[in-house]
Amino acid sequence: MILLATLLFSVASESFDKQFTGRSLRFDYVHTGTATEEHIAYGKLRLEGEWPESRTRLVDDSGLGKYLFEVLDEKQAKVLWSRPFASIYGEWESTGEAETLRRAFQESQRFPEPRTKVVLRLSKRGDDNTFKPIFTSAIDPTSRFVDRAPITPRGTIIPVFEHGAPATKVDLLVLAEGYRESDRAKFEADLKRLVAVMFATEPFLARKADFNVRGLFVASPEAGISNPRKGVFRDSAFGCSFNAFDSDRYVLTFDDVNLREIAAQAPYDTLIMLANERKYGGGGIFNLWSTVTADTEPAAYVFVHEFGHSFAGLADEYYTSQVAYESFSKPGVEPWEPNVTALLDPEQLKWRDLMTAWTDLPTQWGQKAYDEMDLAYQAKRKKLIDEQASEEATEALMREVKVMSTELLTKEPNYGKLGAFEGAMYEAKGLYRPELDCIMFTRNPTNFCRVCTRAIEAAIDRYSR
Ligand SMILES: [Zn+2]
Repeated sequence: MILLATLLFSVASESFDKQFTGRSLRFDYVHTGTATEEHIAYGKLRLEGEWPESRTRLVDDSGLGKYLFEVLDEKQAKVLWSRPFASIYGEWESTGEAETLRRAFQESQRFPEPRTKVVLRLSKRGDDNTFKPIFTSAIDPTSRFVDRAPITPRGTIIPVFEHGAPATKVDLLVLAEGYRESDRAKFEADLKRLVAVMFATEPFLARKADFNVRGLFVASPEAGISNPRKGVFRDSAFGCSFNAFDSDRYVLTFDDVNLREIAAQAPYDTLIMLANERKYGGGGIFNLWSTVTADTEPAAYVFVHEFGHSFAGLADEYYTSQVAYESFSKPGVEPWEPNVTALLDPEQLKWRDLMTAWTDLPTQWGQKAYDEMDLAYQAKRKKLIDEQASEEATEALMREVKVMSTELLTKEPNYGKLGAFEGAMYEAKGLYRPELDCIMFTRNPTNFCRVCTRAIEAAIDRYSR
């Protein structure tokens, strides 16, 4: 078996070498539009370093993502490489602002540098769950229109642990955001503390040998990141800010080119930006990156939760929390995220094969009592935000809700069982999650539900095989 696997691997790498040079090419573009129209505007092609991702799994078969990026041969007869993803634009277009304003967001796709002319195609998922192209462009990777300037090292790589060559490992790179030169030791300590919690959590614990984890220290001029609701604006290495889409805790940056130029000096498959901040916050977008603030009580929880979004395409399983999306998911449309279902056809439930014991679908749970508790919590939380309350007051409230919700959920008869529990992905009705509790639902558990675990394992396989 080992011999066969080695043989298959060498055949697959040979076919990789025939088509690709072994370096990475980046396509920078602008994603722009309104609630009703959408455009991709070509930016440029940029040569990066060695291709750090898999050389055997080139065409994605996960079925995930709101968008799909593909590299096709010149005749568009064959897909050579593909990657599903979600994007800041894709979230923004579901906010109220898109009704009245046209906006533009920097985006990029990185792929193995082809040896010959290829076609780049970017497609969007429709309501019928099929992808339709919104952009197609022929490129010549050998032409003078590719920027081949060297990538200037602008930071220090801090290895946390390394288990092998980038091509056969998940390369997680954690970027220092809002750390001054004098905060270097703090970044290193924050990095190691949070990575240790992630790799004490399954399935990361069992699959630790499939990862290389590194930090990249880049000094920021100021400590911390921007917090517009408190009138705080800071100059930080990556331009991260709280209050993305006017959501207090949502941390994003809109400067993709700067981020990619800095990150390109280290091998990476997946990125986390670690912000030197006391205030609770973070964000995570599938196959883009995630963000998390370092100094809050639940920082380690957020580190793992947001990585679930960016690495495995997991949806938030919670709802009623204040988010900016008008309607994130259309009624009657099955979400692409692996851990949420509209339960349009219980026979086709996407995690049905994991259910060893049959439970009724939808599965009974005390949603009314839970919602009453959660609404009271949301009201208290809103008051704290309006009063610009201290982080200590916010954390005291989080501890209170953790005790109450743990008690409510763990006493449910179906706690720990797989089923379809109503209330998920910002909707109290019409969307269902696989288990009563999960790292993607509340801050209570220290484990992912079985469906999320499987999705993370599949993502690990995609980069390490
Ligand atoms: Zn889950």
